[in-house]
Amino acid sequence: MKKLIAAALVAGMVFSVSSMSLYAEEGGPLVMATSAEFPPYEYHDGDEIVGIDAEVAAAIADELGMTLEIQDMAFDSILAAVQSGKADMGVAGMTVTEDRLKNVNFTDTYAEAAQVIIVQEGSEIAGPDDLEGKVVGVQLGTTGDLYCDDVNPRSVERYNKGFEAVQALLQGKIDAVVIDREPAKVFVEENEGLEIVDEAFTEEEYAIAIAKDNTELVDKVNDALATFKESGELQEIIDKYI
Ligand code: GLN
Repeated sequence: MKKLIAAALVAGMVFSVSSMSLYAEEGGPLVMATSAEFPPYEYHDGDEIVGIDAEVAAAIADELGMTLEIQDMAFDSILAAVQSGKADMGVAGMTVTEDRLKNVNFTDTYAEAAQVIIVQEGSEIAGPDDLEGKVVGVQLGTTGDLYCDDVNPRSVERYNKGFEAVQALLQGKIDAVVIDREPAKVFVEENEGLEIVDEAFTEEEYAIAIAKDNTELVDKVNDALATFKESGELQEIIDKYI
C-alpha cells in the first residue's frame, strides 16, 4: 500500500514538473509560432519579424509579464507546434474553423478576415463559382486550401508561401489564387497586372491558437485582448498596418 502511494506521489510530481516545463510562466518567454510570409500580419523587415500579429503578441506578452519569443515556420506546422507544447500560441492570421477546434483552443477573435480571389487583370473569373474547372493556387494548409475543392476546380496547386502562388499566377501557370484579403492587397499592390475579384470567397475571423489543455493561457490572453479592445490599443496596431 505504501509503495502504491509513493508511486502515485512520484507520478504526481512528474506530472506537475512536466506541466511546469511545458507551459509558459510569468517572467519566462511566451513562445509564438508563426509563418512570417503573411503581410501585413507577419513578415520580415530586415532581421525582425513585424506586423499586426507580432505587435499584438508582444503586447500580450508584456501584459502577462513575459518576453515574446517568435518561432518562424511553415504555416502548416504551426498547429502541431502548439499541440506539442513547442510553442505556447499560434499567432498567424489563423482562421477559426470547426476542424482546428478539434485539436486546439482558440482565443476570442481579434480580426475580421476573408479569403479573396486574385486574378490577372481582365480575367473572366468574377466570383467563387467561376473557379469551376480552373487551376487554382493556394497556400498549403490554409482555409483557401481547405475550402477550394468545394467549387470543383480542375486542380488545386499548393504552395508553401502565398507569394509563390502569386508568382505562378503572374507567370500564367495558374488561373487564380485564393488567399486572405489583406495579404492579397499587399501582393496586388506589389505586382502589376493583378486584381482582386469583388466577390469574396469566404468571410472568416482570426484568433490565437493555444493547446487544448492550456485553458489558463486562453483565459489570460482573452483578458489581455479585452483590455486592448477597450483601450483602443488593438485598433491602433491594426491602423498602423492597414
Ligand atoms: N487565414 C488562413 C488560415 O487560417 C491563412 C493564414 C496564413 O496563411 N497565415 O488558414
